[in-house]
Amino acid sequence: MLAPSVRRCAASQLGRTPTASASGARVRFAPSPTGYLHVGGLRTALFNYLLARHTQGSCILRIEDTDQTRLVPGAADALQDALAWAGIECDEGPRQGGAYGPYVQSERLPIYRTYAERLLRAGRAYRDFRPPVQREANARASALLREAYLPPTEDEAQERIARGEPYVVRLRMEPGRTFTYEDGVYGTMTFRPDMIGGVGDDPIIIKSDGWPTYHLASVVDDTEMAITHVLRGEEWLPSMPKHLALYEAIEAKPPMFVHLPLLINADGSKLSKRSGDVRVEDYRARGLEPEALVNLVALTGYNHQHADAEESDVLSMAQLIDEFELRRISHSRATLPTEKLPFLNRRHMMAKMHDTHTRPAMLARLRPVFDTELGADTARAIPDDKLLETATLGCQRVDTLAEVPRSVAYFFQQPDWGADECRRFRASVKTPAFESVLHNAPAFFEHVDAWEPVALHAALQAWMKAQPEGRAAVQKSLRIALSGKSAGPPVAEIAHALGQAQTVARLHAALAWDTAHRMP
Ligand code: GLU
Repeated sequence: MLAPSVRRCAASQLGRTPTASASGARVRFAPSPTGYLHVGGLRTALFNYLLARHTQGSCILRIEDTDQTRLVPGAADALQDALAWAGIECDEGPRQGGAYGPYVQSERLPIYRTYAERLLRAGRAYRDFRPPVQREANARASALLREAYLPPTEDEAQERIARGEPYVVRLRMEPGRTFTYEDGVYGTMTFRPDMIGGVGDDPIIIKSDGWPTYHLASVVDDTEMAITHVLRGEEWLPSMPKHLALYEAIEAKPPMFVHLPLLINADGSKLSKRSGDVRVEDYRARGLEPEALVNLVALTGYNHQHADAEESDVLSMAQLIDEFELRRISHSRATLPTEKLPFLNRRHMMAKMHDTHTRPAMLARLRPVFDTELGADTARAIPDDKLLETATLGCQRVDTLAEVPRSVAYFFQQPDWGADECRRFRASVKTPAFESVLHNAPAFFEHVDAWEPVALHAALQAWMKAQPEGRAAVQKSLRIALSGKSAGPPVAEIAHALGQAQTVARLHAALAWDTAHRMP
């Protein structure tokens, strides 16, 4: 497997020594707390996390809240909760702490100020006292206007500051300059001057309220936090000339940039709230397993090694980490294959029911749903092992965990033989065959050697084969008697979960019910 190339850590400007190991990537996910985590953001976070784990590096969470006007109260917490739910455990961040903190940009203002002052002193940045409207006009205008603006001398500037005049700090871009870098996904990227904008477009690095812009804060933090790889959405590509200019100005080596193609709707439009489930929260509220959503997102815009059969779509976090390679990230925009979600969810539910590590948590989630669906008295009488055994059978046939209790209620309540579904199914078996199977089956179940899944299955197969009514009629009759359903787990598994006494009792009861309700 080709390990992603890892660059040496950028030199720290404030004297801290980077601690990332020579091979481990230091990556960051840097959301702005302006709303909920979207699936696109989840994919960015996931790819960062996978690279960190694959290279035994570090994953850092940084909250980018420098645009105070767009803050949504509670969003930073909600973002962190969503990541934790998805199993993306950051090594450093606001909750975890770490040697490169603080991890919230509003707590790092002195650091940005220090950088800005240094750039001002070095002549790489200047103070712009023009009022905002005029400034915007200049940005669209030509070099003439830019040249017309002569930033004040330091003494003049200090006087104007003392008078309380507002200003912004701008990075001085070199006119006519072309920027080139190697993107981890898009390869060699070149930004010619005409693509960057006019010379009036010197980017603001400190706003008039004294706060840094995203560009300055991002470049400073990636440097200070010794980030080796920046994996982020392709919407940030146009910012690259500014970021490269900033790295040059602060004399730091840029990290490796890996821009991830957008997730889009099937019609090519950008994923938005209007397109339905875009918030991670929505998937969680629908009762989906986090592993299924992570799996779905990981299948998107990434070329998996064996993406042929449906089975190979099912990937655990451990497999995703093991297989992760930057070169497999696809170059084209991708749609979320949401049609795969029910299948993936089922498979991850089943995996967690079978895994001894995750089973207790599944039981804890199932208990309240069983209480609601079956009534607390019935549900609480079910021992843990029985609940887990039946739920494991049930989750193979439903989309979400919340549907499990209803699908296995027949294990704990007499089947509804009079229900439409059961009546229709019953009509496909001739009455003499039905009667004779239910007449003979109790003796088989009473004398079966061991009430153990494998042995029971083998014995039942042999017994069914020997019955004169034919395999289909035998199987259907037993299924009706034991479950009252037209489909479900194999009959031997139903019988095993019911237990010997209940199995035999149901065979008798079903025959009696059928006789009593038969059309004259
Ligand atoms: N704060 C930016 C966002 O919300 C992050 C951009 C980046 O990763 O550089 O998307």
